[in-house]
Amino acid sequence: MKPIKLSIKLLILLLLSFAMIGTYVGSLISSQIVSKNTLEKNYLIENQFYAKKLADTTNLHFRDMFSNLSVEARDEDYKTLDSKYIYKDLYDLLHSTTYFNSTLFVDRNGILVASVPDINVEGTKVNSIGTQEALTRKKHTVSDPYVGINEKLVILISVPVFNDVGTYIGFIAGTINLHEENSLKAILGQHPKHQNDSYVYVVDSKGNIIFHPNINRINDNVKENEVVKELIKRNSGSRVVINTLGEKMLAGYATVNSNGWGIVSQTSQKAVNKPTYELGKQISLYTIPFMIFVFVLTIYMLIKIVNPIRDLAIYARQVTKNKPVPTEIIPEWYFEIRELKRTLLIAIDFYQKKLHFAESESKRDHLTGLYNRRALEKLALNSDSYSIILFDIDRFKLINDQYGHLKGDEVIQYIAKLITEVTIETDLCFRWGGEEFLIILPDVDLAKALLIAERLRKTLDTTISPTGKPVTVSIGVGHLPESTDNFSELLDMTDQALYKAKQEGRNKVIAANKN
Ligand code: GH3
Ligand code: MG
Ligand code: MG
Repeated sequence: MKPIKLSIKLLILLLLSFAMIGTYVGSLISSQIVSKNTLEKNYLIENQFYAKKLADTTNLHFRDMFSNLSVEARDEDYKTLDSKYIYKDLYDLLHSTTYFNSTLFVDRNGILVASVPDINVEGTKVNSIGTQEALTRKKHTVSDPYVGINEKLVILISVPVFNDVGTYIGFIAGTINLHEENSLKAILGQHPKHQNDSYVYVVDSKGNIIFHPNINRINDNVKENEVVKELIKRNSGSRVVINTLGEKMLAGYATVNSNGWGIVSQTSQKAVNKPTYELGKQISLYTIPFMIFVFVLTIYMLIKIVNPIRDLAIYARQVTKNKPVPTEIIPEWYFEIRELKRTLLIAIDFYQKKLHFAESESKRDHLTGLYNRRALEKLALNSDSYSIILFDIDRFKLINDQYGHLKGDEVIQYIAKLITEVTIETDLCFRWGGEEFLIILPDVDLAKALLIAERLRKTLDTTISPTGKPVTVSIGVGHLPESTDNFSELLDMTDQALYKAKQEGRNKVIAANKN
């Protein structure tokens, strides 16, 4: 597998992506949580408040209905038990308010004396649950829902009627037809918020649904519902509950004092959280383009930052190949790159100088500072006409023997110094062997070279050396192309001339000669 090339660009981009995505996800999650919690809390409070308000209104409504019926119960007509009068009173009762769907009077034996609207069973005994309950209780009563004599699902609101001596003679009642338009609906009707997602339902003290926006649910028993359980215990409050459709609902609930009913106002959690998802979408909508912008800007800046570093690396690499790009084209717009560039250039300069020094050192003789034999190959001779002077110290072994090796060295140095004094800058001076020297004199003819050699010989002969006495030298002189046109042959010939000078008694200059 090819290893991934981790460039600083890639690393920074990865880091940036990580930071940006982290921030984005973080802000998204926190905003979602905060929004969800706030909204849900608010809805729970609102629903509880609304349920309480409806409970109070319903309570008043029932008190009004009871007082209306109670006033009616004091009417003399009922004591006559005359259905004609009673019908008329019941008719007025029904139409003077919008409380009831029908009104009726039942005598103490359970005989329906009159009802409005007329249902043609007057004069017969009615055995419905509601009438039985009213007859037995002989008090203000709100019945459970039941199917009444009119074949409709009703609740019966009844008050007892007594004659002048206080004997129970029956009850007056109004019905609320639960499946039809009724006065409860007017109170509980539409939820003020989120018409489709919020609704109110009412249960009686046994958990039967009295009112529900879905008419089919009326008369269902829902006592297993967690909220209804609370209502049956006469508690008010708010909580999250799962409705029959399996939906999570935020429910507020309150009880109605006068009849033991419970009112539930609830909103689907999904609907409540809609704005939260919307908020998430909005955040993404604003954040993502911004993130892309930052990302692109970062890539641009990264290129600006990293490219000079890369250029410097290329420069450093090319320096080793001796063809560097000019450093001026490497941008240095920020502090670190300026310092890096400066340091790199200083370092390169430093090592180049060292290299130069080492190189020249390798060409030089340590003792004298003159060129060594190796240097000859590396030095370019710019002229094709030059003289060479080759000389050897006479009887040097004796000097060593007499004055010691160190003194011998001193003598060698002394002669080297003298050579540099008698030559000019363009001349090349070598320590050719132990106590042997070579001088190359460009553009100097043989005659002049012989003069120079002679002057050197004479100077040494008349100058006190470190031994306290002069040292002498034997010199061979040659010229290219006068003596020969081949350098190594020239050296040979000049060496022979030197040898000859030795043989002829030393302290002598002899020109190279083809014999
Ligand atoms: P001649 O050349 O006149 O024939 O006699 P010579 O005594 O000089 O003989 P030769 O040239 O053969 O001797 C060279 C001597 O130089 C041998 C060696 O001990 C000595 N020598 C060579 N290099 C050095 C050096 O670097 N320092 C010292 N002190 N002596 C050296
Ligand atoms: Mg020698
Ligand atoms: Mg010698």
